[in-house]
Amino acid sequence: MLRNSQQGVVYYQYDSFRNSSGLRHGVFTRLGGQSRPPFASLNVSHTVGDDNAVVDANQETVFRALGVSPGQVVTAHQVHGCRAAIVGRREAGQVIPETDALLTNDPETMLMLRFADCLPILFYDPRHRAVALAHAGWRGTMQNVAAATVRAMQAAYHTDPAELRVGLGPCIQVCCYQVGEEVRAAAQRAFPASVPLFARQPDGSYHFDLALANTWQLQQMGVRCFETAPFCTSCCVDEFYSHRRERGRTGRFAVLLGPDRMS
Ligand SMILES: [Zn+2]
Repeated sequence: MLRNSQQGVVYYQYDSFRNSSGLRHGVFTRLGGQSRPPFASLNVSHTVGDDNAVVDANQETVFRALGVSPGQVVTAHQVHGCRAAIVGRREAGQVIPETDALLTNDPETMLMLRFADCLPILFYDPRHRAVALAHAGWRGTMQNVAAATVRAMQAAYHTDPAELRVGLGPCIQVCCYQVGEEVRAAAQRAFPASVPLFARQPDGSYHFDLALANTWQLQQMGVRCFETAPFCTSCCVDEFYSHRRERGRTGRFAVLLGPDRMS
């Protein structure tokens, strides 16, 4: 991934997306905003207790970095489900209720979701110039939000999964993601036992591999092209927000993705 820094605003871009014309995207960090601790500093969530005016200013900072106007951005009220919504110009500036995946093929529309440990999944279909952005925590993963997003792209844009380029964003990784019996039981129902989703620790607890779970689900759908962000949000809490590491008192970083006019 390429690390961009503009006046203190730091965001990453996938090599496999960056070299594609017709695409705009950014995986933002917590660096370059105006929020104070524990939200410092580029928090884009209005629902974590941060000052609304500061969050608005942070969002404008994010949009400016990618050359996007606020009226182009469509976001969602994320609920750890598996609903995917197709959006376009009519939804510009809106928050789509109870949705964890957004799709568009409109070059005027930018998708944005917010993260702190959950996995961002960015999808690009270069043939149909369509994109999708999904939010997968363990609950969404057990409901297979990744496959639901691919199916929605197939239905809306005739996407061939073998042609999709998928970027997996910064999330809490297996080094840090200790989970309880609830997650183990849900995984037993949602995955074959042969998928190595859990790492047993010396103390007998289990760590869950969220990125591997979603990669496996996408491979089952026929996706072949992946680029995975080399960051654990909990280990890299200086650059990303981590709900787990910061015990729930933290912000959310932004991920944006949208088709662009071919230059
Ligand atoms: Zn870690």
